[in-house]
Amino acid sequence: NQQKNMLPVYPGLERFTLLEKMGDGAFSNVFKAHDTKTDRIVAVKVVRKFDMNAQQNKHLHRDMKKKPRVTERANILKEVQIMRQLQHPNIVQLHEFFESDEYYFLVLELATGGELFHRIVKLTYFSEDLARHVIIQVAHAIRYLHEEKGVVHRDIKPENILFEPIPIIPSPPGYKPDEEDKEDEGIFQPGIGGGGIGRVKIADFGLSKIVWNEQTMTPCGTVGYTAPEIVKDERYSKSVDMWALGCVLYTLLVGFPPFYDESIQALTEKVARGQFTFLSPWWDEISSEVKNLISHLLCVNPSERYTIDQFLAHPWIKAGQPELLKEA
Ligand code: ADP
Ligand code: MG
Repeated sequence: NQQKNMLPVYPGLERFTLLEKMGDGAFSNVFKAHDTKTDRIVAVKVVRKFDMNAQQNKHLHRDMKKKPRVTERANILKEVQIMRQLQHPNIVQLHEFFESDEYYFLVLELATGGELFHRIVKLTYFSEDLARHVIIQVAHAIRYLHEEKGVVHRDIKPENILFEPIPIIPSPPGYKPDEEDKEDEGIFQPGIGGGGIGRVKIADFGLSKIVWNEQTMTPCGTVGYTAPEIVKDERYSKSVDMWALGCVLYTLLVGFPPFYDESIQALTEKVARGQFTFLSPWWDEISSEVKNLISHLLCVNPSERYTIDQFLAHPWIKAGQPELLKEA
């Protein structure tokens, strides 16, 4: 197989046999790999270190507006430090972290089902029931982050929402699996427990951040001497994940995002004004309950936007919470 021959070799990663490429970002490559030490199949996220000279680095640090678009040691360590604290069925687990001269390596729990993004492309859109099952799992991960860990993810999007092929819910009526298509494995698995959708796992804590506890107005973890403007600044930081959750839910239901424009400038203006519609005919058959829920997420004023607890208490969410997901 040609692709297999093209897998790179990373000095320092000899313990792992790379099996296939799972995804790539601007500064990272993710591989499915066999860990010869533990005999586990895992995901290895390989992040290239940038050999910028110290002088350049100094300059970039001073000029905070020009944030370096490189993976600096501090950034990757933050991602690792945050991930180490997390243990939740709907969050990709970090098993190990190590580095070589040129790369950082994150050994992660493998989500073999791939990205939610690819599922949307494949199915065009999800039924309300299927969308609910997916979004509830994402919401449980967010509740854990926000309420238990004081972490804001800040990069919730379909590319960072992954699947693990454990059948949980039956496939929707009328769903016919494409037998030829291996990609369908992991979302609906006819034959295993009557078919089901894989468990959802959120990944990519590269932009995540530990924030202030809104109730007690204390920093999570440490006691500091932080000024009120910083506390105020962070008051609504969790709400960025709620906005993103609304965008994901909208996209799940119709297959296109709430805000879109060819021009970045026009798109930015639409987002800034919170200018979206439930476009006909795509939204015609969709319940007013879920439209109501989305409207409470895609609202410009963060103080009015639903919190994760308000989201989980909404009638549309409550309408179909399956037993298996309640414990999560
Ligand atoms: P980046 O910061 O470059 O976006 P991600 O952590 O999002 O890095 O990983 C990039 C892509 O690699 C993801 O969108 C996904 O397709 C794939 N990926 C990441 N982690 C895993 C994992 N644990 N299991 C399977 N695929 C993964
Ligand atoms: Mg990503």
